[in-house]
Amino acid sequence: MKPSKEELLTQSQYRMVERLREAEERWRFALEGTGDGVWDWDIQNGRTVLSKRWKEMMGYTEAEFDAQGGDWTALIHPADRDQVRETLRKYLAGQEGPQYIAEFRLHNKEGEWRWILARAMTVSRNSQGNPLRIIGTHSDITERKRAEETIQRQAYFDELTHLPNRNLFRDRLQQEIKRVQRANLRLALLFIDLDDFKGINDTLGHDAGDKLLVEVGGRIAATVRESDTLARFGGDEFTLILSGLGSTDNVERVAREILATLAEPFHIEGERIVISASIGITLCPMDATEVEDLCKNADQAMFAAKSAGRRRFCYFMPEMQVAAQSRLRLINDLRLALEADQFEVYFQPIIDLASGGIVKAEALIRWRHPDRGMVSPAEFIPVAEHAGLIAAIGDLVFKQTTHHLSRWRNNHKAGLQISVNVSPVQFLNNGGPYAKIAAYLSERGLPAESLSIEITEGLLLDATFATTDKLLQFRDAGIQIAIDDFGTGYSSLSYLRRFPINYLKIDQSFVRNLASDPNDMAIAEAIILMGHKLGLRVIAEGVETEAQRKLLAEAGCDYAQGYLFSRPLPAVEFEALLDGP
Ligand code: C2E
Ligand code: CA
Ligand code: CA
Repeated sequence: MKPSKEELLTQSQYRMVERLREAEERWRFALEGTGDGVWDWDIQNGRTVLSKRWKEMMGYTEAEFDAQGGDWTALIHPADRDQVRETLRKYLAGQEGPQYIAEFRLHNKEGEWRWILARAMTVSRNSQGNPLRIIGTHSDITERKRAEETIQRQAYFDELTHLPNRNLFRDRLQQEIKRVQRANLRLALLFIDLDDFKGINDTLGHDAGDKLLVEVGGRIAATVRESDTLARFGGDEFTLILSGLGSTDNVERVAREILATLAEPFHIEGERIVISASIGITLCPMDATEVEDLCKNADQAMFAAKSAGRRRFCYFMPEMQVAAQSRLRLINDLRLALEADQFEVYFQPIIDLASGGIVKAEALIRWRHPDRGMVSPAEFIPVAEHAGLIAAIGDLVFKQTTHHLSRWRNNHKAGLQISVNVSPVQFLNNGGPYAKIAAYLSERGLPAESLSIEITEGLLLDATFATTDKLLQFRDAGIQIAIDDFGTGYSSLSYLRRFPINYLKIDQSFVRNLASDPNDMAIAEAIILMGHKLGLRVIAEGVETEAQRKLLAEAGCDYAQGYLFSRPLPAVEFEALLDGP
């Protein structure tokens, strides 16, 4: 390393030493004025004179060291000894320029290692030009060294997990890309993102969240080789470079091991925590050979893993590039749509199968895109969830819904109840969706039972305490809860007993083939039967034919919704239906 300006003898120190030849007795006093310790080494007799300040600095008394001829070199840290000797050899051989400079650790009297900056110069030479006498200073730079180490650590390591951070990860990835290309090998880059970490943080608090991240880092590290680079990319995202691979056969095994080790429950602050992760994988040089491209690929593959239902891994595929671009465009358009009021809530009637009358409706959002026309919520809701726009969208659905509902209940159908879809992501947000909804209800003077929310099975299964609490807020307020798309998810009924559920909505996929597929009929019947046993009402979705209606009614289903009765309608048209027969 090149010495910095401060490390060279200052101009005045230099001049002082130069003047030594004239006024030797004054040097010590003068040099010590800087606060440094001074030593004066007579190479011919091997003796060193150490200044008073030098001894003070190292914690010794005035008499010490004199017996061993002032030799302090035994105090040098073993790890620094070779370097000190080598620098000195070069200096004496004239290869180091006019000044000797070195940094090393010295042992002080208390047994502490102090970092020392040594600066020295030759003050007399023999006729061949070889040094006879060298005078130098020692400055204690321990504080500076510590600060430098801290800065170094912070620049390259994550303080929490002590894993390499994003900076070091990028450096390593860069190096590894070059290395595998030279050696004709390959590497795999994995992006590992925890599912629903925010929920855990919100429930258990940041301290527990931090502890969890440390343990997650430890578990992943335990599944990989020493030579692989595991880094904390930020938040709950980890990156892993599997380098020097002859074949990529092992990549999948590593991904599976990581998923498995993270699936084991964690025990943090007395809580048992179950988490999962989604992993995106990209390969170099097959997919890309640049740091940026590889990161983008792995991120897109990770997004695909999340979209496919989380707790899995996904390889990067070129199609994802295209998908990612159109997703970006969509996010942009969604932001504009929120500002420009391009969303409108439609309402689809829900029929009481016994009476045939409209008793409820489902609120379904519609987006009138300026260029593309109607865009399906099935396309934009998942993107809105990912882009952090779902809360704003959910909010406008509740706002429009309660606005119409109060009019309909006052003027058309007093007992009308409308159900609103609430995305699981809305439950992850701080506080959850309840507060806003309660405010709209009271603003419109609506009772809680005029509203119900539709959630998915996944929300209950992934439920951390936070989501449970947020769900209970609805129940406590008297807002009813429906499980949407029932039968398509985990379909484990055990959770139904543990949560305050009011309705099951049989997924359309079972209703579609009711008449033709005895299996689907059996499933529908089972759902109705079990639902009733648990005290729940059952709603069939996607009822399109009279045959389906009849079968469901015979099976004891309570409500039905579908094109047979009506498509989702704009508020005015729905209102007209309410006045119908
Ligand atoms: P979902 O909650 O399962 O809504 C039912 C979907 O089935 C709606 O699609 C509805 O138009 C459609 N549908 C109704 N009857 C029939 C039928 O007889 N046959 C067939 N084939 N389909 C029928 P839509 O409106 O396109 O909504 C799609 C999904 O988008 C919804 O599925 C829901 O998950 C989500 N979504 C819609 N609006 C919102 C919203 O305001 N917030 C949230 N978070 N999600 C919403
Ligand atoms: Ca729904
Ligand atoms: Ca549904």
